[in-house]
Amino acid sequence: MTEQANAFSAKCDGCGAGTGPLMKLSMGRDFFGRAYDRLSPSADQSPKWYCESCSMHKNLQRDFRDIKAEFDKLSSGQSSDLSGPEQLQRAQLRLREISTILGQSGSKLLNAADVSALLGRLQTQAAATAG
Ligand SMILES: [Zn+2]
Repeated sequence: MTEQANAFSAKCDGCGAGTGPLMKLSMGRDFFGRAYDRLSPSADQSPKWYCESCSMHKNLQRDFRDIKAEFDKLSSGQSSDLSGPEQLQRAQLRLREISTILGQSGSKLLNAADVSALLGRLQTQAAATAG
C-alpha cells in the first residue's frame, strides 16, 4: 500500500464520512495568534483527518476552547489574553459568528448552548469592565 492509498482509505475523524476529500488539520496560528499544534502533536504520530465540513467545525471548536480557556483564566484573576476591552470585544464577535454558523448547520463537535453561555459571560464581563 502506498501512502496515498492510505490517505484515500481514511475516514473523517469528526463524522466518520469516508467520501470526499479529507483535510489534515494544519498547523497554524490560533485565535490569539499563538502557534497552534494541539491537535497535531509535534511528532504528528496520529494525525487527524477531517472532511470539509468537520474541518470548518473543528476550527470553530478550537476558537471556542481557546476563548473559554482564556476567559476562565481572566475570571480566576490570572493573566489572560482576554484582559483588554478590545480582546473581549473581538472574542465576543467571534463567538457570535460561531453561534450563527452553528444555528445554520449544527455541529457534532460543538454545542450551541455552550457557545451562547460563554458569550453571555463575556458580555457580562465586558459590561463590568466598561462600567
Ligand atoms: Zn466529517
